[in-house]
Amino acid sequence: MRSISHPEIYAIGDAATPAEDPGVRVRMSAVTATIMGAHGSDSLSAVLRGKTPKPLSFAYLGQGIALGRHNAIGFNNYPDDTPRPPYFTGWLGYLIREGFVRYLAIATQRPGIFVWVGKRRYGRAQRRQQTRAEKKQMQPRRA
Ligand SMILES: Cc1cc2nc3c(=O)[nH]c(=O)nc-3n(C[C@H](O)[C@H](O)[C@H](O)COP(=O)(O)OP(=O)(O)OC[C@H]3O[C@@H](n4cnc5c(N)ncnc54)[C@H](O)[C@@H]3O)c2cc1C
Repeated sequence: MRSISHPEIYAIGDAATPAEDPGVRVRMSAVTATIMGAHGSDSLSAVLRGKTPKPLSFAYLGQGIALGRHNAIGFNNYPDDTPRPPYFTGWLGYLIREGFVRYLAIATQRPGIFVWVGKRRYGRAQRRQQTRAEKKQMQPRRA
């Protein structure tokens, strides 16, 4: 993501919020910050190679919330961050959360290996917005 007023400035992480709908709401979190970091690097790399950077687009995959030592709740929140069953608690929830955290920690230290899902969601959000705007235009105006 780039600053609207200063396109040479790139914004990532908790301090940033996109002006355009990336296909899901952006919640402050480690996973969002990691995706934004990787996307920011890809964008910079594209600009340096004379290419147009792609817009931010992603989906959530799952979430783990710590509930204490060796206790957590883990669940699926694909694609729009809505919690969905089954909910894994206790040791299993802890292992799921630990898996997420370790993956993010490893990914941030090895540039290029981080992958994320939902790269087409921005396009879909744009099409939805366009359809809504077209429908609104076609509606007869009330006197
Ligand atoms: C106690 C706690 C628990 C959390 N638990 C979870 C969790 O379980 N799951 C989850 O998803 N999220 C969790 N979060 C939120 C998560 O940590 C943040 O969403 C994530 O770290 C945001 O990443 P970031 O890179 O945007 O910012 P940060 O991780 O805050 O990184 C910003 C970096 O910029 C550096 N910095 C600041 N100012 C300057 C400057 N002027 N010059 C140079 N460097 C500077 C800081 O030192 C820091 O290293 C938790 C947060 C807290 C505080």
